[in-house]
Amino acid sequence: MIVFDRVTKVYPGGNTALKNVSLHIQKGEFVFILGHSGAGKSTFLKLILREEKATSGHVLVDGKDLSRMKERQVPYLRRNMGVVFQDFRLIPSMTAYENVAFAMRVTNIPEKQIRERVPYVFELVGLKEKMHKYPDEMSGGEQQRVALARALVHSPELIIADEPTGNIDPELSLEMMELLNAINSVGITVVVVTHEHELARHFGKRVITIENGTVVDDSSRIMGQDNSFASFQEYDQQEVEV
Ligand code: ADP
Repeated sequence: MIVFDRVTKVYPGGNTALKNVSLHIQKGEFVFILGHSGAGKSTFLKLILREEKATSGHVLVDGKDLSRMKERQVPYLRRNMGVVFQDFRLIPSMTAYENVAFAMRVTNIPEKQIRERVPYVFELVGLKEKMHKYPDEMSGGEQQRVALARALVHSPELIIADEPTGNIDPELSLEMMELLNAINSVGITVVVVTHEHELARHFGKRVITIENGTVVDDSSRIMGQDNSFASFQEYDQQEVEV
């Protein structure tokens, strides 16, 4: 699903954010990208989203080399990925429902489909009864679930959560991880970017640690596997179809 082949990213001005990074995230995996501030995590995400291009090496998503991808193909790449940003990026003047519907409208999806799909994704994230509220009438955890609903609306193959614990308390972050796990259990690849060791280690999933732009640890390598699927049995596996 995601391949980094000897990827180096040097920003204009000379900052090297990633150095010769090679890794492979398989379809259906649940992976933590762990690193301190400045380690290169955001750059990693920006390369996957083609917000930035690699200075050298190759980034492949679904077999497509992003450095060769034409500008007009980039929206299609991004539609296949749902991103939950740390600051949620909700539009404050729109209700939760409208925020999610808006993400569909901009891709010219017919209204009828929007009316069916939006309540469905709110149900998936357990927020259907609050979907007509405005972001400022919701808690941080609820706003995050709205952001997740929006990320799910195009039935993506990949969900990326950027610092999911940044703006919510630990209990809620566990709830979020359970939701992400349920999403992963139906085959959607999940990448969680975090600086929190505890969170990353808690779930027994693959953890890729980045320091100073280099992969210094990859739990799947230690375990001698390409991708680890340690079980999540202590958590409820919700039945979801996304
Ligand atoms: P993280 O997300 O782990 O905090 P980043 O990917 O944002 O790390 O940053 C990695 C390194 O690249 C840092 O040294 C940072 O200062 C540098 N960097 C990030 N973005 C830019 C940019 N747009 N221009 C110049 N340097 C940047």
